[in-house]
Amino acid sequence: APAETPRIVIDAHGLPYLNAGLPVKKRVADLLGRMSLAEKAGQMTQAERGAMTRPDDIAGYALGSLLSGGGSTPTPNTPEAWAKMIDAFQLRTQATRFQVPLLYGVDAVHGHNNLSGATVMPHNIGIGATRDPRLAHRTGAVTAAEVRATGVPWDFAPCLCVSRDERWGRSYESFGEDPALVESMETVIQGLQGRADGRDLSRNDKVLATAKHFVGDGGTAYGSSTTGTYTIDQGVTKVTRRQLEDIHLAPYREAVDRGIGTVMPSYSSLDITGDGKGAVKMHARADMINGVLKGRMGFSGFVISDWNAIDQLPGDYAAHVRASVNAGVDMMMVPYGYKEFSTTLADEVKAGRISERRIDDAVSRILTEKFRLGLFEHPYADTSGAAAIGSPAHREVARRAAAESQVLLKNAGGVLPLKKSEKVYVAGSNADDIGNQTGGWTLTWQGASGNTVPGTTILQGLRKAGGDVTYSKDASAPTGGYDVGVVVVGETPYAEGVGDVGNGHDLKLSAADQSAVDKVCAAMRCAVLIVSGRPQLIGDRLDEIDALVASWLPGTEGEGVADVLYGRRPFTGQLPVTWPKSESQLPINVGDPAYDPQFPYGWGLTTLTEVPKGGTATLRDLAVRAAAAERHGDARTGRTLVTEARLLVQQRTAGHLTEAVAGPFADADHLLLTGRYGKAVEKLAEAYRAA
Ligand code: BGC
Repeated sequence: APAETPRIVIDAHGLPYLNAGLPVKKRVADLLGRMSLAEKAGQMTQAERGAMTRPDDIAGYALGSLLSGGGSTPTPNTPEAWAKMIDAFQLRTQATRFQVPLLYGVDAVHGHNNLSGATVMPHNIGIGATRDPRLAHRTGAVTAAEVRATGVPWDFAPCLCVSRDERWGRSYESFGEDPALVESMETVIQGLQGRADGRDLSRNDKVLATAKHFVGDGGTAYGSSTTGTYTIDQGVTKVTRRQLEDIHLAPYREAVDRGIGTVMPSYSSLDITGDGKGAVKMHARADMINGVLKGRMGFSGFVISDWNAIDQLPGDYAAHVRASVNAGVDMMMVPYGYKEFSTTLADEVKAGRISERRIDDAVSRILTEKFRLGLFEHPYADTSGAAAIGSPAHREVARRAAAESQVLLKNAGGVLPLKKSEKVYVAGSNADDIGNQTGGWTLTWQGASGNTVPGTTILQGLRKAGGDVTYSKDASAPTGGYDVGVVVVGETPYAEGVGDVGNGHDLKLSAADQSAVDKVCAAMRCAVLIVSGRPQLIGDRLDEIDALVASWLPGTEGEGVADVLYGRRPFTGQLPVTWPKSESQLPINVGDPAYDPQFPYGWGLTTLTEVPKGGTATLRDLAVRAAAAERHGDARTGRTLVTEARLLVQQRTAGHLTEAVAGPFADADHLLLTGRYGKAVEKLAEAYRAA
């Protein structure tokens, strides 16, 4: 606690719930038994920090939680100011009867992205491209350490959406289109929270995590609105039961197994074929929240609503409160409407329309997490880890993640990696723009172009690597004896529906970007990097491009991108989503019957090893060995054999992808992720024969 903050007196009562030696269950039961209805309603209420114009309300309404919405940051935006701000809020709980500490939450969705100077990781789509669960774990651990060191014990991440249509503006928050890929990246939950049993949560470098948005947020249909605006974000997910289970629910089963502490329902509606309910908003789907999540899956943490999401439910405000609480939502993110919510909730209970039992269950779940986080013992910020925020060790993890996330889609004539002896001409809108490189949810909700956060741009990374680099953003003088051009183009930042296609966005490069590519690629051998949250349509332009890289939103460490460009690390990334040829193909996903993308799911050339020589005979041999590895549960060997088979196919097909190749190639990656190594190699052999 800062010096001017009086020391906590939370143990003054000497009541059982304050005894850290008792099991959490006993502590919860003791405290719950003492609380009034209004106090319980308060625990279920989460307000925005900016709404605290009367900080006395924290005690007045016995609030359970506060959040900083995207970009709601203290001034100055420093670790010290964060800790001081949260401690000052926390101090207010001293004026309540039981001094239940506040649970403060933020969206740290790619590092502690609201804090200036924090380590900003690649967005999830890039993490999915790494196919590296251990690295995902490390990014989570760095994020947790930086977040907790500023006094924040709760992070609204990870997003477990399985994004099925790139026209959705939140595609970059997804690890990819394949549920098996999303599941494999859920190691990030252990990075954030520690062990699945929750006993690491009280550490000063761990945070409570949130799996979001439950369920089907990535499956909404495009252009479904009758009002003429496109509502793919917060829209309707229409699925069969099978699709719901296999595609969208599967990642939540994994998250529950991993001990996820909280789950956030989706703004979207779910429309399950044949269940007779029609399209119902997730915040009111008792069958899903109570039934599937808490019931069948046995989720024991608590459910936090999305921002003002209950306002989208039918009926009057009391109906919103009833429907959501009775559906199983335990805490309501009612950023500015906390008074109305907590009093309406209490009234609904008094009127018998929400049961006492439901309230007790919700509050027990919330208190359990507060006890597990150690908040009763240590309610104030422990800033001892603050020196590590943005430290070289943390940035090294982000740099590695940036490097591993780069997907080499095409590499004609071996343009990449660059050689130090080559003269490199760098151009394009995203070569020297840290804001574009970090994307949405960076310092502000929407993110912004320009010099927003400390870090290294891709251009700076190339320069630091010691290359002979000349730069012109708009490719003004692309001639003059350069060996190779590096054109970095792509998207500018956005978040949520703002980024939807049809909402001011499309998947095409801007005219300026197209012109930069055309000019440079006409003048010299060229590598084009696309810094974006999702695939961009390249079309016929692919022919004029020698090397093409999907860079995603790599974060603050442009040196990671430079690492692979200069061959200090190999390209190993693989497409986490299908790369379409045209917008008319969307949605396009692995497993689709007609599958003719520009690049299939799982695609990614590697500069890792000598590509093995051989043919189908070798592939047959690999398939036999992979099947044996599968039988013996030898995942390591299985994965290596599949990688070898993949290299054989890539060697044979690079640049000549047809439907007959793309389909089995993409399927193989799904089989690999689900541990079916023998079948994966057989699929690759099929792709090889078709090439
Ligand atoms: C987003 C959530 C986020 C919340 C709080 C909402 O608009 O959908 O993902 O956690 O805001 O910032």
